[in-house]
Amino acid sequence: MRHGSHTEVEPTSVQRVSASIIIVGAGFSGAVVARELADAGIASRVVDSRSHVAGNAHTERRSNGVMVHVYGPHIFHTGDEHVWEYINRFGDMVPYNHRVKATSGGKVYSLPVNLHTINQFFDATMSPEEAQAFITSKADSTIDTPVSFEDQALKFVGRELYEAFFKGYTQKQWGVSPTELPASILARLPVRFTYEDSYFNHPYQAIPRDGYTPIVEAILDHPLIEVSLNTTVTPSDVADAEHVFWSGPIDQYFEGKFGALGYRTLDFVESSSDGDYQGCPVMNYCDVDVPYTRITEHKHFAPWENHAGTTVYTEYSRLAEGEDIPYYPIRQVEEKKQLGDYVAAAQQASCVTFLGRLGTYRYLDMDVTIKEALEVAKIYLSCRSENRSMPPFVVNPL
Ligand code: FAD
Ligand code: UDP
Repeated sequence: MRHGSHTEVEPTSVQRVSASIIIVGAGFSGAVVARELADAGIASRVVDSRSHVAGNAHTERRSNGVMVHVYGPHIFHTGDEHVWEYINRFGDMVPYNHRVKATSGGKVYSLPVNLHTINQFFDATMSPEEAQAFITSKADSTIDTPVSFEDQALKFVGRELYEAFFKGYTQKQWGVSPTELPASILARLPVRFTYEDSYFNHPYQAIPRDGYTPIVEAILDHPLIEVSLNTTVTPSDVADAEHVFWSGPIDQYFEGKFGALGYRTLDFVESSSDGDYQGCPVMNYCDVDVPYTRITEHKHFAPWENHAGTTVYTEYSRLAEGEDIPYYPIRQVEEKKQLGDYVAAAQQASCVTFLGRLGTYRYLDMDVTIKEALEVAKIYLSCRSENRSMPPFVVNPL
């Protein structure tokens, strides 16, 4: 990767680009595509508005030695062998089992909902079978195919657990009632009738020993890749490029002509002190009258390190406006309709491919991001060798 250090890079003009392939965004999406192209002998220039690579997965060590996940907690987890091998090529991934606690009604519970949560919450000592029968008796069996988040919760855990752990948290996180959200959001979380309390089900779960940013730097470290930071690309800057891979917001490429796509943004209030603040990496606050959603204590993501001090983030969620960082795509009916218009416009555009969480306006975990970026590069290379035009998407964003 040809640049001095993250903070020393001068803003540059995109018009002065020599490479004819431009990759917008130096997160996992952009970096993986650049690397695959470079390994195939094709030069590209990767441009990012931020002063660092790695996008939202960026990590930084604070003066107390704690590695901070600057844009919120990031745990690498996957079931995909190929993606797992890929990330291990570029850095040392340390096995890490993510466990989350939740405060609700003045008590602390284990999450995701598991046998411990059920026994704690109902003050019982049920066996797996008893708990399953008990929760089935609580669950709303009249709901056949859950459509909303609330339906999904009522069908799988019943009203008490829904109200204690999901209703308030979801209202704070998304700013709307769970009756208006799709069931798919909750479907990400398992419900277990054992004491297994891993947050994720995937066989590979890890945190990079030196943080995510050195991994993305290593992916970009190739003589055929030029990286420009502190540089925001507009569509007219890249109009003459042979091909553009756009991992910025899709609506930005079309200058918002169908309206700005809605996102939730996050405010992280950072504070540092001595000792251990909460004894775990993430504590969710499920009650609606607590204004924040969760507190992250970053040093617990690196249990192999020892630090006398600690750094925590208190996280608040709200609607993104103006220059706010877009975090979670809202994807409700109105946004889906707008997205449809942008997808149709993308299908008419030439020499541009949209990818990544912003380019396709989807919530994507890092492993899926890497998998899709590998696929984008593979399809581009085969289109190029067969003189075919590259499609605007490899996965339909709708
Ligand atoms: P990004 O990382 O967003 O990178 C896009 C880059 O494009 C940015 O750096 C941006 O500055 C740049 N850019 C945009 N527009 C322009 C422009 N016009 N000109 C120049 N540059 C531009 N995934 C997991 O696997 N595990 C987790 O635990 C996890 N936790 C998460 C927690 C939070 C709070 C959030 C929001 C996401 C989390 N994710 C997690 C998802 C993870 O962040 C994404 O998978 C990943 O960031 C996607 O990479 P990307 O390259 O597509 O996008
Ligand atoms: N959720 C909840 N209570 C919790 C944790 C999660 O209601 O304590 C809901 C919330 O709506 C969230 C969704 O479940 O958006 C998915 O949870 P996940 O932990 O995957 O959220 P993310 O990592 O996206 O913040």
